[in-house]
Amino acid sequence: MQLKTTLRKAVKPLNLVSVMNVEKLMQQLEAKHPGEAEYLQAVREVLITVEDVYNQHPEFEKAKIAERIVEPDRIFTFRVPWVDDRGEVQVNLGYRIQFNNAIGPYKGGLRFHSSVTLSILKFLGFEQIFKNALTTLPMGGGKGGSDFNPRGKSDGEVMRFCQAFMTELWRYIGPDTDVPAGDIGVGAREIGYLYGMYKKLAHEHTGVLTGKNLEFGGSLVRPEATGFGGLYFVKQMLETAGQSIEGKTIAISGFGNVAWGAATKATQMGAKVVTLSGPDGYIYDPDGVSGEKIDYMLELRATCNDVVAPYAEKFGVKFVPGRRPWEVKTDIALPCATQNELNGEDAQRLIDNGVICVGEISNMGCTPEAIDLFINNKIMYGPGKAVNAGGVATSGLEMTQNAMHLCWPADEVDARLHRIMADIHAQCVKYGRQPDGYINYMKGANIAGFMKVARAMLAQGVV
Ligand code: GLU
Repeated sequence: MQLKTTLRKAVKPLNLVSVMNVEKLMQQLEAKHPGEAEYLQAVREVLITVEDVYNQHPEFEKAKIAERIVEPDRIFTFRVPWVDDRGEVQVNLGYRIQFNNAIGPYKGGLRFHSSVTLSILKFLGFEQIFKNALTTLPMGGGKGGSDFNPRGKSDGEVMRFCQAFMTELWRYIGPDTDVPAGDIGVGAREIGYLYGMYKKLAHEHTGVLTGKNLEFGGSLVRPEATGFGGLYFVKQMLETAGQSIEGKTIAISGFGNVAWGAATKATQMGAKVVTLSGPDGYIYDPDGVSGEKIDYMLELRATCNDVVAPYAEKFGVKFVPGRRPWEVKTDIALPCATQNELNGEDAQRLIDNGVICVGEISNMGCTPEAIDLFINNKIMYGPGKAVNAGGVATSGLEMTQNAMHLCWPADEVDARLHRIMADIHAQCVKYGRQPDGYINYMKGANIAGFMKVARAMLAQGVV
């Protein structure tokens, strides 16, 4: 009897120490969510990089933190019917994913683009949890959007769509519940229309959306914040490696709001941006995208056509149709367009051409093959959830200003953005520095973001 008890005691703790098995968990997720490729890609990356640290905390596994964190708290999907300028009824799909609110209200953008699927919004929402945790601000993770594409639509059509979208969404959001913002296809115009409808339905003027115009609660520096923050981060990466950004050449993809902010700050820092791109191809401008050329990006974006070729015509530079800018020899590559826009082949070409630093300013801009190549070749690689966190961080600052009913001057917002990006960089270095001195920023960002949310979930019980 005595012996049996002793044995039971000796065996029991061993049984209790179960660990997370990433492959098993991924198989279960793949079976539950077949075909959700982008979502599964984002989850796999995070789980693999946090596995070792996670398994040093048996209390996490006991509370099934991994199994809980990979599933959204809830998903709303709704029909969005609206009438186009010809009087025809159009029907789109609307979504809001409230992924995780362990550290603050759900927070994340809305994407309006024909490519939007549940898988894409789930990957974006999942990434947003850890990105928001890294900002040091109290924001949970969420994402939403629609397969509606505002490009080529009249202002009236965009307004009617946004009003129809908000007629459903307004029930689920609130300044302390869920605070949407912009993403691809959702800029100040769309936020204005969405906000107008929310205000009418809810009968209140609150900070329920960020990215608003300055006249009704928006924050200075918010339009520039994603690109500016990205460059503050990249500059720190270079300086930590004993290099300077001044005089470096940069390949940028995209020509929208993020690319514009990045090109502006890179030029101010003394670097030379030599490419921009669109779905039609890329432009190569060896003299650098600066001055009036940066202003022209705004003009180009305002046109209905999703093409970058007119830049080449206007400034007499080379346009390469149907190709991506990663074949150009540059020191730094900054994906600023969309997910998986830089693959293994692109990465190899960049490495062969001597790239020293890659900063994802788009969300999940690089494929897993590209990331492996950068890390195995000890190229500085900054993941989107760290590098592009300046956008949502400044949204967080907009929420604070709205809650205080005041408006900070631009230099104050910019100084705070600077501090936040430096803080994110420090967290990545803390958790990502390898024994040989190389900083694995992906690992650092994933561990720092994940641990914060995991600790909060653990403290709050099984909810
Ligand atoms: N869509 C941006 C992002 O991916 C900004 C989100 C926000 O400001 O809430 O982080």
